[in-house]
Amino acid sequence: MKKKLYALLGLIVIITIFCVIIIMGLDKENNEDRDDTRIQVVTSFYPTFIVASNILDGIPEIRVQNLTDSTTGCLHDYQLTTQDMKIISTADLFIMNGGGMEGYIDEVIGNYPDLNTINLSKDIPMLESNHHHEHHDEDHVADQEDNHLKVHDDDHTENHNEDHLEEQDQKNHENISHEIEYNSHVWLNPRLYIKQIENARDGLIDYVKSNSSLEAEKHEEIITKIEANAENYMEKVTQLDEDITEELKNLNILNKEVVIFHDAFAYLADRVGLVVAYSVEMDSESQLSATEIADIVDHIKEEGIRYLFIEEQFGDTIAQRIQDETDATVYIIDSAVTGDGSRDSYLTAMKNNLEVIKEALQ
Ligand SMILES: [Zn+2]
Repeated sequence: MKKKLYALLGLIVIITIFCVIIIMGLDKENNEDRDDTRIQVVTSFYPTFIVASNILDGIPEIRVQNLTDSTTGCLHDYQLTTQDMKIISTADLFIMNGGGMEGYIDEVIGNYPDLNTINLSKDIPMLESNHHHEHHDEDHVADQEDNHLKVHDDDHTENHNEDHLEEQDQKNHENISHEIEYNSHVWLNPRLYIKQIENARDGLIDYVKSNSSLEAEKHEEIITKIEANAENYMEKVTQLDEDITEELKNLNILNKEVVIFHDAFAYLADRVGLVVAYSVEMDSESQLSATEIADIVDHIKEEGIRYLFIEEQFGDTIAQRIQDETDATVYIIDSAVTGDGSRDSYLTAMKNNLEVIKEALQ
């Protein structure tokens, strides 16, 4: 009797262990399936995420994941977390803004030297960063179009591109001797943003073409979809750019001066024809001294500057104080670095900016 009971118990234990092994096995297989069949695209921050979301919309074979969350904002001084590194370790492709926005990129490339990256600022001329320095506006008056922009390719990703190494070396020496810092917030000029969309499209198509894990017949289908999505998104941004021209054409903007409280606004100012008289970087790292604030106030009074462009993400106490002490007015501009994650969030932010600028300059 006892022997039978032990045998039965033994059988139950064996069956249970067997079932657990099978269930675990199935579970593992499911996870692997999910990871294997989708290409993992990781974007560096909100603006690059929005570009990728638009271009990869409706392509189930590719998953887009943003490294930072949609409230992080710009990546100035951003430090990678262990969770970030985990996400990067699963990436097939990393999409970055470039131009120095991703200060952590050396660490990423150090850890994952074979990671495919797309630099959205490739071949885009960048403005010099001029925060805390007075701007020489003669340059702007001389050529209102794009001639005064200095070409700057991203140092980090260029290292992957051997063709440009020599050229880049020379540029680096130049940069060091003149201590030029570049402003990487190019997306706030819709014309440069369109170039970023093209860079994303081309990089993604190249990646899909070279991806051997996809079935051959899938390649063409995905590439066609990427091209159509990019075309569609660029059309919307082009429309936005035309709206800017159309709606501001009767306002007397040319060479009016503005003080900006985020380097990003330099691109918007440049696009609409405003001159940046002073750029104050308002992040938590760089607090202005009382002397510096007094200098800015003096400058604004002397030059008769009436516009202050600030953004909510950096707070507005200093701008408010300057407004109180001068004839200048504070206007809130959206640098499109945060949002609800919807694909149209760049367009929405820029349309609001256009309204604010119209109101300011009327
Ligand atoms: Zn920024």
